[in-house]
Amino acid sequence: MTATQRDTSASEARRARLAAAIDADWPYLEAFALDLHAHPELMFEEHRSAGKLVGSLREAGFEVEAPAGGLDTAFIARHGFGPGGPRIALMAEYDALPEIGHACGHNLIATAALGAARALRSALEASGGELLVIGCPAEEGGGGKILLLRAGVFEGVDAALMFHPGSRTMTIRGALAAARVTMRFYGKAAHAASTPELGINALDACLLTFHAINALRQHVKDETRIHGIITHGGSAPNIVPDYAEAKFLIRHRRHEEVDALKERVLAAARGAAAAVGARVEFDEGLAYAERRVNVPMAARFAAHLEAQGEAVKPAPAIGGVGSSDFGNVSQVVPAIHPYVAIVPEGVSAHTPEFAAAAASPAGMRGLRLAATALAATAADLITDPELLAAARADFGGTAAAGGTA
Ligand SMILES: [Zn+2]
Ligand SMILES: [Zn+2]
Repeated sequence: MTATQRDTSASEARRARLAAAIDADWPYLEAFALDLHAHPELMFEEHRSAGKLVGSLREAGFEVEAPAGGLDTAFIARHGFGPGGPRIALMAEYDALPEIGHACGHNLIATAALGAARALRSALEASGGELLVIGCPAEEGGGGKILLLRAGVFEGVDAALMFHPGSRTMTIRGALAAARVTMRFYGKAAHAASTPELGINALDACLLTFHAINALRQHVKDETRIHGIITHGGSAPNIVPDYAEAKFLIRHRRHEEVDALKERVLAAARGAAAAVGARVEFDEGLAYAERRVNVPMAARFAAHLEAQGEAVKPAPAIGGVGSSDFGNVSQVVPAIHPYVAIVPEGVSAHTPEFAAAAASPAGMRGLRLAATALAATAADLITDPELLAAARADFGGTAAAGGTA
């Protein structure tokens, strides 16, 4: 038997033990995921969800710091297997979306991290290393992980893992860098019929901004995404709007490109405001970096899915990508964000159909596959120095593996 064969059979034995622990915990985990789903909470307001996760991790023997990183609904759970060894983090997300609830399936993400952590705590035999569960609020636009990174929560972490439900099981897929900006246009109110000459129309400045951005589209690089909505357009048709507001996202595979595009979008808004004599102010949100995928970790996760009978597919060559604050984590720590299918291809996240799937038998199947693969991959990283070395080499080697996926 070669060393590689020995490592493979040891990894398979660990996965079998962890899968048995997850099976034993399954009624609890299924109920947990359905309960989070039934009580969706918006970003930074995930008090109930975070509280339940903290309670469950404490009950399982983890030492939990909550709140953490300066965020009320963040937490860090720790379990040490012994002195020395790597520090491996599982990331839990648990925020939902306005009106459509858990339409991104974060109830499954949180429960997969929880189930993997509970199984590792009870069933992994290791003589060193530390397991963290990092509770990450506000993925849907709040940049929770970026705030936790700034607070130093990921310092000393050797590798970070999570999974995301999707429409295709795939472990290597990039995501776009994204900038977000709120534009506030200020004009002057007037009676829209009797004294329009006294008014300055902030809504016109806002509409012209959309036209100017549309004129940019011919002259941007492929795979650019610029999309916005008007969040305020006046209060009555007989009043010249003195205030209008729009929100935009600007995305590309590379954050350098996003930075340059953002300047052109801001210039378009300034020009539009100048055209009607209005004034514009910008409020820039946290910038999401593009995703790097750690290839050795992703390959190991894929192997643990395939061993459970799940086919792993390559990512589509183009399209089908969004952005996540996971991107920022992946720039500083070897990390993976694989997908496990819970809906057929063609069904998108952020829809009522996806929200229903996150509480369906297909959602529960994906949760069980993902929890087992997360536990097994984390166990390999804690106990197999060769895998961790390969992950580090990949991270330090070529740039942005995920960017081209
Ligand atoms: Zn989402
Ligand atoms: Zn999501």
